[in-house]
Amino acid sequence: MNIALLMEMAASGLGDRTAIVSGGQKLSYDELQRRALISAELFAARAGEKIAYVGVNSIAFPLALFGSALAGKPFTPLNYRLPDTELRRLVARTAPATLVADDDMAPRVAGIDGVEVVTVSELLAAAPQPAGFVPAEHEIAVLLFTSGTTGEPKAGVLRHANLTSYVISTVEFMAAGEDEAALVSVPPYHIAGISAVLTSIYAGRTLVQLPAFTPEGWVEAAAEHGVTQAMVVPTMLGRILDTLDQEGKDLPAMRHLSYGGGRMPEPVIRRAMAKLPNVSFVNAYGLTETSSTIAFLSPEDHRAAIASDDPKWQRRLSSVGIPIPSIELDIRDPEGQPVPRGTAGEIWVRGEQVSGEYLGRSALREGGWYPTNDAGWMDEDGYLFVEGRLDDVIVRGGENISPGEIEDVLREHPAVADVAVLGVPDDEWGEAVAAVLVVREPTPAEELRDWVKTRLRSTKVPGLVLFRDALPYNDTGKLLRRVLKQELVPAQAA
Ligand code: ATP
Repeated sequence: MNIALLMEMAASGLGDRTAIVSGGQKLSYDELQRRALISAELFAARAGEKIAYVGVNSIAFPLALFGSALAGKPFTPLNYRLPDTELRRLVARTAPATLVADDDMAPRVAGIDGVEVVTVSELLAAAPQPAGFVPAEHEIAVLLFTSGTTGEPKAGVLRHANLTSYVISTVEFMAAGEDEAALVSVPPYHIAGISAVLTSIYAGRTLVQLPAFTPEGWVEAAAEHGVTQAMVVPTMLGRILDTLDQEGKDLPAMRHLSYGGGRMPEPVIRRAMAKLPNVSFVNAYGLTETSSTIAFLSPEDHRAAIASDDPKWQRRLSSVGIPIPSIELDIRDPEGQPVPRGTAGEIWVRGEQVSGEYLGRSALREGGWYPTNDAGWMDEDGYLFVEGRLDDVIVRGGENISPGEIEDVLREHPAVADVAVLGVPDDEWGEAVAAVLVVREPTPAEELRDWVKTRLRSTKVPGLVLFRDALPYNDTGKLLRRVLKQELVPAQAA
C-alpha cells in the first residue's frame, strides 16, 4: 500500500481538521491532500526518478513526501546541516531529478548536473494543472541516509510496504486518539522525522512542526499549541528538563512522551518521571533499516520499574521493553545461531516493516532476517536490553562490558555533567575501559574511579580517565564514539 493512501484515508474522514501547524502557517487535512496532489503533478511532469529534499521541518516537507509518493518517485530528505561539499556528494550519490530546497538553501545545491532545483516558495505557489492526475506506483517510498555514527552514511531503502506496515501497526498498537497535538522537532532527514509525519497524519492528529530543536523553543511550542505528545532523543529530554527547571515551568497538556534513537541514561528518565508525573513515557527502540520502532517499553512498565522492590523490575527501566507484535526478534551468536535467554549476542529482527536494504544491495539474511549490528540480551520474560553497537561493546579479557552501565554510574556523581565510556586497545587485556568526562568542577580521577569501584565490578572501573570541555554529538543528538575513539588512542599512547 502506498504511503500517500494513509494520508488520503485520514483526509477523507477529517476534512477541515488541522493536519499541520508550522510557524504561522496551518494546513487542514483537505488542503494537505489537495496540495500534495499539486506537488505530485509538478514532480510527475519532470523526467527522472527521484525527488530530494533539503530543508527544515515546514509544511513543504509533508507535501514533498506525499507528493513524491503520489507521483511514484522515491523521496530522499538530505541532511542540510552537512558542509556544502558533503551535501553535494550525497546529492550526487542519489542523483535526484528534482530537488526541493528551502529558499535560503537553494544556492548551496545549485548547478549540479542533471538536478533541477525547485524552491519551497515555488512548490507552495504551484497551481493545479487542468488535466486529471493519475497517481503512479513505485515500490520504493523513501531513501534515507543513516546518521553515519559507524562510518560513511548508508542509503537505506524503505519500501511503501515497509512504512505502511510500521505506521498501521504502531498507530493501532499505541491506540492513540485523534484529539492529540504532536510536536516534531527531529529533522526531516531522520527516520523519526518521517515517522512523525506518517503516524500523526494517519492517526488524524495535528502535527506541530519546529524547524529546528532548541529546548526553549520546544517548551514554548508545547505550551502555545497545547501539545499532548512528542518524540525526543535522550539528549533533548535532558535539555528540556533543565529548561523547565530554569524557567520554573511545567508541561500541563503533555500526556505522552516517547524517547529513543539512542540509549537513555537511567538518571535522566528517573528525573523526567519525577518532574512530569502526569506524562506517560515510552522508550522506543528502532533503526532506519527497520522503518523505526521495533520494540518499546510501555508507560505501565516504566511505572512498574519505578514502584517495584523486585530487582528484575527495577532493572527494566534501562530496557527497551518487548518487541511489537508484528516483529520477530532473536539474539544470535556470531555464527548466526540463537542463544539462550539471558545471554548477550547480536539482535536480529524480521517483519514486514524491516527493509534491511541499501541502495543497490540487500543486507537481509536467509528467511528475511536482518542482523542489526546492535548488541543486546533478553531477560526471562522477553524484555530486551540494548547494549549499543556491537563495535562499542568493550571486550576486556574475554568479558563483554557495556559502556552504558558505567556511564550511568558516573553520571550520578554530582560533579559529572556528561560522560562517554569506550574501549581502548590494551596490551594485557585486549581492551581497557576509558572514561571521557565533562565535569562541573575539577575532580580527581581517583575519586571518580572510587565512585565506580564501590558500585560496579572491578573490571568495569575505568583504567583511563580523561577530561574534555564537551563531547562530540551529531545533529540528531547521538554521541560520536568513533570520533572520540580516534582522538583517544593517541592520547593513551602519549
Ligand atoms: P549508522 O547506522 O550510520 O551508524 P545510526 O546508528 O545513528 O547511524 P540510526 O538508524 O539513526 O543509525 O540509529 C539506530 C541505532 O540507534 C540503533 O541501532 C541503536 O544502536 C540506537 N538506538 C535506537 N533507539 C534506541 C533506544 N531506544 N535505546 C538504545 N539505543 C537505541
